[in-house]
Amino acid sequence: MKSQSDIQQELLPDFASREKLWTHAIQRLNEAVENLPGQSPSPTLGMSEIRKRLEAYDFHESRASEAVFDDVLDLLLQGMVHTQHPGYFGLFNPSPTFPSIIADTMTAALNPQLAVWSHAPTAVEMERHVIREICHWIGFESEGADGHFTSGGAEANYTAALMALTSVIPQFAEQGAVGLSGRPCIYASEESHLAWYKIAHQSGIGRAAVRLVPTDGSGRMKAGELEVMVERDKASGCIPVMVAATAGTTNAGMIDPLPETGRIARERGLWFHVDAAWGGAVCVSPAGRTLMSGIETADSVTIDAHKWLSVPMGAGMILCRDRGHFHSTFRVQASYMPKGLEGLTPYSQTIQWSRRFIGLKLFLSLAVLGKAGYAAMIQRCRDLAATLADLLGQSGWEVVNDPALAVVCFVDRDHGVDVERIAQRVVESGKAWISVAIFEKRPVLRACITSHRTREPDLVKLVHALNQARELEQSIDPDLS
Ligand SMILES: *Cc1c(COP(=O)(O)O)cnc(C)c1O
Repeated sequence: MKSQSDIQQELLPDFASREKLWTHAIQRLNEAVENLPGQSPSPTLGMSEIRKRLEAYDFHESRASEAVFDDVLDLLLQGMVHTQHPGYFGLFNPSPTFPSIIADTMTAALNPQLAVWSHAPTAVEMERHVIREICHWIGFESEGADGHFTSGGAEANYTAALMALTSVIPQFAEQGAVGLSGRPCIYASEESHLAWYKIAHQSGIGRAAVRLVPTDGSGRMKAGELEVMVERDKASGCIPVMVAATAGTTNAGMIDPLPETGRIARERGLWFHVDAAWGGAVCVSPAGRTLMSGIETADSVTIDAHKWLSVPMGAGMILCRDRGHFHSTFRVQASYMPKGLEGLTPYSQTIQWSRRFIGLKLFLSLAVLGKAGYAAMIQRCRDLAATLADLLGQSGWEVVNDPALAVVCFVDRDHGVDVERIAQRVVESGKAWISVAIFEKRPVLRACITSHRTREPDLVKLVHALNQARELEQSIDPDLS
């Protein structure tokens, strides 16, 4: 039997042992991150190999920390897509900034509880401080503007939907969707992020509440169609609640017409939400902000810090022009919770109760890089996307979207080679990671410049891998050439 002091040494090793472990872990991690560019960005272990290695962990005996750490790191390195790889042209998962990695380590080590102000005053104030800065970026200048960190964009959008329902339908807070005269409806484009279905389901208004508005052939919501659909729903007894415009679609980085869709929502008493989970980061610079013209008219805005602001997951933000909506939607008072200051009691303003210190990652990153550093990083991604679009054009690929937000969607111009097979071959080559998407009802290859480690030679490598994949496809299927 293990003694209490042995167990204690495992729960919290003594100072010298901790230092040794920290040093070991940090050295190994540091080497792993350094060596990534020479490795495959894709998993090299299959499911059965992973499960087999996990079987060694039956948790009966205790094990030496260093050995466990080394084995787990090795398993992870071989069993994940490496978003820090410069050849990762994938979904919006960032290479985290170094300060944000330190911040998340600090958060785990100190573990502040942000449910109430009095439990972690500095942490709550730091989140408030950085949220006010982001409000300023998007043009939420009034005193009442506020926001909160969330686990991600889906939670932020869910928060927006609940605030919209609570604000637009007076009886929603107490009675829910039961007994309403008609079905509440929310409007987003056909190219929007389909978490809206889960959100409609979760919030109790049902998946049928989601109205997908047609797009204009280049991925943007048709404002005229939105107007027609809202009027039609109203006439048939439904209750239009919210227009959710997308500012940077997930598949193609396209921006809905924000001024027009906002006006349509406002004139009819609907909530206007802007989902800028990825694209919102461009607002860090005045030049980028012009792309998002109209975002300042929103009632609420979603921006993910764990996308283009490059902090580790999960870190989303929900911003609202009037903080009163957070309180009216999430108000609650538990006897055992310390009494809070009005507007500064996160557990009664948000979906979460116990809360991790999410905001420190962005605070530390912004403090170290400054807005100028972030603006330069984002501009470089945009410039690289423009370069990639040129390189693709020179190699017989046709870019089908506007790559202004660093997402490039393309197809094979002359032969219509199957995009799924191309993506699979590129991933299997171990040289780059790329995916497919549907853009305007058509399958396309999708390359997003999401890693701050990506440089021009990585683009050349990607195009080379794409060209090789296409040649192989053509040699297998002569009909294509
Ligand atoms: C990524 C994304 C979401 C979902 O955000 P998560 O952080 O993955 O929860 C929502 N909307 C858009 C436009 C996105 O790109």
